[in-house]
Amino acid sequence: MTSRHHIDTMLIHEGEASPAIEGAVTLPIFQTAMYETSGESDYHDVRYIRLNNTPNHNVLHKKLAALENAEAALVAASGMAAISTTLLTFLRPGDHVIAQSGLYGGTQILFVADFKDMGIEVDFVDGADPTSWESKLRTQTKVMYVETIANPTMWVSDLDAAVAFARAHGLVSMIDNTFATPVNYRPAEAGFDLSLHSGTKYLNGHNDIVAGAVIGDAEKIEKIRHKLNHLGGTLDPHACFLLHRGLKTLSVRVRRQNENAMRIARFLEEHSAVTRVNYPGLVSNPHHERAKRFFDGFGGMLSFELTGGLDAAKRFLERASIPRIAPSLGGVESLLTLPATTSHVEMSREERESVGITDALVRMSVGIESADDLIDDLQGALES
Ligand code: PLP
Repeated sequence: MTSRHHIDTMLIHEGEASPAIEGAVTLPIFQTAMYETSGESDYHDVRYIRLNNTPNHNVLHKKLAALENAEAALVAASGMAAISTTLLTFLRPGDHVIAQSGLYGGTQILFVADFKDMGIEVDFVDGADPTSWESKLRTQTKVMYVETIANPTMWVSDLDAAVAFARAHGLVSMIDNTFATPVNYRPAEAGFDLSLHSGTKYLNGHNDIVAGAVIGDAEKIEKIRHKLNHLGGTLDPHACFLLHRGLKTLSVRVRRQNENAMRIARFLEEHSAVTRVNYPGLVSNPHHERAKRFFDGFGGMLSFELTGGLDAAKRFLERASIPRIAPSLGGVESLLTLPATTSHVEMSREERESVGITDALVRMSVGIESADDLIDDLQGALES
């Protein structure tokens, strides 16, 4: 494809083999570890699965870049492989990162444990208060790191300010765009250098693979590919095929999830057994104005607390019958989880509570089921 089409069209057609290989309408899985050489002079051009350059990788790279209106993309073996490899491409011992507080638990631990061991330091800041960022700057600060919608508090940082701050101070700006997806937010259009995804979640959408992606500036993506080629966190061709297949329905799924989550958030907000609902689509949410400014949709993730605390939350999880009780998110089926015991279990209670994650906080990944059925089911679980 040459001109820029609507995202719904790009999801289906962008990056596809042209002409089609043997007339195949769907790109087959290239189940071969290596390819015959054809005069490559650079190691990174040798065609081999670990070097992230097979037909199953290339179609995803082209499609993902187009979806976020960015120059280039790279898939990886998991969201954490994409995040860690990207950070390691730009950070050395002695370097420093400014990150928003309330990050996904795995990223948080990467910063405070693994990177600390390597001599890389991080300061966490209130993402919604740009005036607090400058005091954390050091001469060794290299990266500004935020999430589009934080997990599981659904906080929305001042994303435009993060881009401006990074540019003003020569930092690489990175954003984990997993929760918003390219349907609701395209970081490159806002000026971010690099957008990261757990492709395990919405991009694939079917809870059947683990995958990751980084999307953005072509020169930086090439550096990250070289690092990934050495570190080896490659997505295998079969998982590439499944991610490619899942991706084609991304906009249909995400728009339905936006609608379902909005209806469920409004229902929960009105319910007397619920004390607090975190969803940036709610007008009452302190992050709503920013979210409205940045996003085309508010996403399929929400979290809430019940009047009866942890015991009530556990009973609620036992009684809800449509959502499955499982960590992870972004798939077609609704999931419920208690983040304090799953995604954020590695943080101390004190650390968790400082970023709004109480033991009784319930997180819901809203699927594509009927919103009426989901609301009936949640109502029954709240009232029984
Ligand atoms: N980023 C966010 C926002 C996540 O929620 C997760 C996982 O839950 C990750 C990154 C890590 O992704 P993966 O499990 O694919 O490594």
